[in-house]
Amino acid sequence: MKLDALDSRILEILRQDARASYREIARRTGSTTPTVARRVRALEELGVIQGYGARVEFVRIGGVESLLLLSPSSGATERLLAALGAEPAVAESLELEDGTVLARLLTGSEEEAAEVRRRIAKLPFVREADARRVRSGSRRAGRGFGTGRATLEIRCFLCGGPLPEEPVSARIGGKRGYFCCTTCRGVFRDRYRRLAAGR
Ligand SMILES: [Zn+2]
Repeated sequence: MKLDALDSRILEILRQDARASYREIARRTGSTTPTVARRVRALEELGVIQGYGARVEFVRIGGVESLLLLSPSSGATERLLAALGAEPAVAESLELEDGTVLARLLTGSEEEAAEVRRRIAKLPFVREADARRVRSGSRRAGRGFGTGRATLEIRCFLCGGPLPEEPVSARIGGKRGYFCCTTCRGVFRDRYRRLAAGR
């Protein structure tokens, strides 16, 4: 699900100033007030804009892609791959011919990426972990993460992974959220309920 350049500009302006008026946004984007109003309503309906002010952060826009090269302890490759498979931020993991494992991490922020890396590096069967953040790259259109600039694609609200052709969606807290799978939707819903209940 891709957003166009005008949507990106509108979001950028709203992220800087959640109270910017439609007229102001129209002026800054060279668009018209009715167009801006229509786009903002569509973005709200899509769940990209979940609310104003602090809650704009709720949504993953952009994101951080990083690679993690891992050396499992001897005989533990299977266990490592299984552990990576259970980690929502790991988009894919590959066993390389020298026995090391390469994992691709997609997260909403650098802090989240660091947290996931720490968790993985602490697994008892990981001997060494070496991380690199991805700066740019090319990928078949519609597959995986965009890297570098202009990564305005709606991603799974929980894990930040790319959405499939027909994403799983749900109305949560009065807004629509999109997820890569029913597991992510379930976890997100639980967390939302706990947050909403103040626990
Ligand atoms: Zn997901």
